[in-house]
Amino acid sequence: MTIDTLLKKIKTYNPDADFELIKKAYDFAKKAHQGQKRESGEDYIQHLLRTACCLAEMKLSANTIAAGLLHDTVEDTEITNKDIQKEFGKEIAFLVEGISKLGKIKYHGVQRHVENLRKIFLAMAKDIRVVLIKFCDRLHNLETLNYLPPEKQKRIAMETLEIYAPLCYRLGMGGLKGRLEDVSFPYVYPKEYQELLNQVKEQYEEREKYLKKVNSVVEKKLRKAGVRVIEIHSRSKRYYSLYKKLQRYDNDLSKIYDLVALRIIVKDVKDCYRTLGIIHKLWKPLPGRIKDYIAMPKLNTYRSLHTTVFCLGGKIIEFQIRTPKMHKEAEFGIAAHWYYSEQRGLASRIKKLITKAPEKKLQWVKQLQEWQEEAKDFSPDEYLKSLKIDFFKNRIFVFTPRGDVIDLPDGATAVDFAYAVHTEVGNQCAGAKINEKMVSLSQPLKNEDVVEIIIDKKRIPSQDWLKFVKTNMARSRIKNWFKRESQSSRLIKGKQILGKAIQDIKIKEKKVIKSLKISLKPKKKPKVFIAGKTGYLINLAKCCDPKPGDKIQAYITKDQGASVHKIDCARLKQAQKKWPQKIIQASWKKQ
Ligand code: MN
Repeated sequence: MTIDTLLKKIKTYNPDADFELIKKAYDFAKKAHQGQKRESGEDYIQHLLRTACCLAEMKLSANTIAAGLLHDTVEDTEITNKDIQKEFGKEIAFLVEGISKLGKIKYHGVQRHVENLRKIFLAMAKDIRVVLIKFCDRLHNLETLNYLPPEKQKRIAMETLEIYAPLCYRLGMGGLKGRLEDVSFPYVYPKEYQELLNQVKEQYEEREKYLKKVNSVVEKKLRKAGVRVIEIHSRSKRYYSLYKKLQRYDNDLSKIYDLVALRIIVKDVKDCYRTLGIIHKLWKPLPGRIKDYIAMPKLNTYRSLHTTVFCLGGKIIEFQIRTPKMHKEAEFGIAAHWYYSEQRGLASRIKKLITKAPEKKLQWVKQLQEWQEEAKDFSPDEYLKSLKIDFFKNRIFVFTPRGDVIDLPDGATAVDFAYAVHTEVGNQCAGAKINEKMVSLSQPLKNEDVVEIIIDKKRIPSQDWLKFVKTNMARSRIKNWFKRESQSSRLIKGKQILGKAIQDIKIKEKKVIKSLKISLKPKKKPKVFIAGKTGYLINLAKCCDPKPGDKIQAYITKDQGASVHKIDCARLKQAQKKWPQKIIQASWKKQ
């Protein structure tokens, strides 16, 4: 590859680019790396041109491409960062320094690996362009992987599948993600790769032929209806992405409807929906397969309309409908942001903006930073494991009752959902409804579930939740809650709990006593002679509790008859003093 190829490529999307700068960077890098060779035997400059070319494919600015050409100078030659700054200015020096700091990924166990990842995320938070250069660097390294020893090949390819490609996906760079995966796939799963190839190659070719026919039918119809088609093309599903999907569908190729899909690009959103309507009029859609990612974009900002229909001859075919802007964003994701910024000609104002992550699109990068903070005490093994689970595992998309999208790892529960919405929602989570049905908090959520959390302000997190939550975020927040609960507030709560327990015991005791009393055989009420006669209403006094055999006296009350006391009862004696006339003689009648 030559510098002219690179310049030509840049010219296609930015005729006014600073070509002098790029040429200068090229000459500088070529001189600095003079005599160095790649493992493939090529001159080192080839690696730099390829890296720069990949950046140009993402339509990035001259500064970023120049930094791509210079990315290995500080790391691999005598050149210092000061030299770069002197020759190329602060911005390019900053980018080159960022990449040099990332260093070459060296493999000395998990610890080293994790350190590098931490560095990547740190760099990403500072200026995402550093990571874009890193991705392009990595892509070319993968493309020349066959020159490395086999065990290195597998390790680098595996790391790409586990970390780099998912990272690309999360940044919305579908194009680069697919390339990174497809180039790594045969190194990590050579047997499976070969099998898949044998299985689908013919089908791919056959489908593409068939879609040419469909293509012309659709184009005619759309033209008739006055919809201007900017582009229609068939796109084949990438091999690795197909491999992953087949695993989820019992390896049944007939269930994969988007092996080859037809992609239609029209000028605006209105035309997207019109196109969808026209296709549905032509062919019957499969129920449940119409996806409106325009009204509800994926978390990585992917937008498009998808539908699957019974097409010509009853074959099941997927259509993807989008605008040119959506198409660029689907391919280049976060990188497309710079493209548009520069197109609008707001160069100087935007320049300030771009060194920081653009707010809305990089919500996820922020989330990642937060997560880094929470994970800082993790051992390297834990770090890697939870990173894969929290950010890169197969994701499901679920909805709040208001229609906001929350993305979670496969197998996540309502408690994970609650903590993803807000820490307080998690802490006060008392129950959950999935699609309007009450469910247990531990039930795994499914794609597109609508989840409603029932909040109870008195509710506190439960240690049991730790047994089933899937996200590290929920886990660490539950643990934090228990940590944060200070000893004193726990003491207060403890007292409350104890107080209530004691009260409960008392109530229970009373109940027991009452039931005992009821169950005891009521004794015959003893009879008492009052002034020598029976038949009076009598009442055995509770103060002294007279029993048959005790010497007794009675006291005439107003309305409870004769109150019978022991003869030496203090209360009786008091009454005797005050109202001697009311005291009357009493004795037990033998039973
Ligand atoms: Mn490199």
